[in-house]
Amino acid sequence: MEKLKKRIQQLKKKRPGYKVILDFYQKVREEQEKIKHSLKIEPILIKKEWKHLLAKEGFPMLEKKDFPLDIEKSLALFQSLCQIGKEANPYMAGQVKKSEEAFDKKKGDMKKLLEEGLNEKRIEKLADQFGIDKKVFSFLILESIKPSIEAGVEKISNELDTETWLKGFCPVCGSFPSLSLLKEEVGKRYLLCSFCGYEWRIERLICPFCGNKDQDSLQYFYGEGEETYRIDTCEKCHQYIKTIDQRNIELIDSVLEDLATLHLDILASKKGYKRKVPNPWIT
Ligand SMILES: [Zn+2]
Ligand SMILES: [Zn+2]
Repeated sequence: MEKLKKRIQQLKKKRPGYKVILDFYQKVREEQEKIKHSLKIEPILIKKEWKHLLAKEGFPMLEKKDFPLDIEKSLALFQSLCQIGKEANPYMAGQVKKSEEAFDKKKGDMKKLLEEGLNEKRIEKLADQFGIDKKVFSFLILESIKPSIEAGVEKISNELDTETWLKGFCPVCGSFPSLSLLKEEVGKRYLLCSFCGYEWRIERLICPFCGNKDQDSLQYFYGEGEETYRIDTCEKCHQYIKTIDQRNIELIDSVLEDLATLHLDILASKKGYKRKVPNPWIT
């Protein structure tokens, strides 16, 4: 956390325009960090034969709703995140208030909702029913269960082979990646899961979203003076993924670096490319 705070300070100095969002990010991460060490997570049991079969057939191991969660801790975290949200900005404050009113006296319901993990359809339905911004609501839920999800993935990660999956979606949960990372001197490329945070390897020249391998239609551009971050574009599906070159920086938190380079997303969008997994931190 100290390293993270230092990096946030650095980034705020370098890009003062990001101060508000970075302060918000730090507060959320601090709350998540507080509960991290006391989480009680059931182990994820995967039969060996089953694991091989899934990998061979290209199926992910879990569905989003199957991750074991520490519900009590997630509920407590949800409440602290609502508090942070209330102080963040008037829009967020209004949304949080609405969701609190909706769930007031019905704490059991919020618990029940968290028990379902990230059940996008139900979250959407409830958001509609209560007139809450779907994005804000789903952000609060996801960030509340995130420490549990990451703890679960950590427990099974040494049973998994990061090097051989080579697909555009996560071998653990099947979600699309939020970022791509270049590592080691040879520049091996990895993808970072947008849901469970697992990292797996993929070929250097491929669009993770449509599988396009045609070199001429896979391009990239950098931000001005920022060769650590680049946008990899695909002419076939007109989508892009942001890549962080880990050979240039000591990467402490990839989600933070993603957030601090929103200007590149704006640039990509101006050039007509779409981001497959929208950044959940911007509402
Ligand atoms: Zn995943
Ligand atoms: Zn593509």
